[in-house]
Amino acid sequence: MHELSIAQDILDIVNQYVAPEQMNAVRSVRLKVGKLSGIVPESLEFCFSAVVSDTPLAQANLEIERIPTRAECPDCGNSFLIDDPAFLCPRCGSTSIRVVSGTELQVVEIELADQETEVI
Ligand SMILES: [Zn+2]
Repeated sequence: MHELSIAQDILDIVNQYVAPEQMNAVRSVRLKVGKLSGIVPESLEFCFSAVVSDTPLAQANLEIERIPTRAECPDCGNSFLIDDPAFLCPRCGSTSIRVVSGTELQVVEIELADQETEVI
């Protein structure tokens, strides 16, 4: 399952940035997840709780921020958000648009209790 390996990756990232003795102070892990990444946030949250259940991170929350799909039209220079799978420029109707955001998955912040927030 896609989300399960991603949850494991997130745990690995937290392990990289947070010292072992601080792991149980982690309150939340903030993520940016692009709409086009194909990740279902509810499923990722579920997998994350499963992955961390036996670790000091068991109490940490996953905070997922959805990033809308943004595209650019090379024909007229228009930049716009895509809500549905109709991938064409709403201004000039061109279909040669380039997706510029919406596919990302990024850990942006790890929040520790009574500590400065780690921003990645
Ligand atoms: Zn256009």
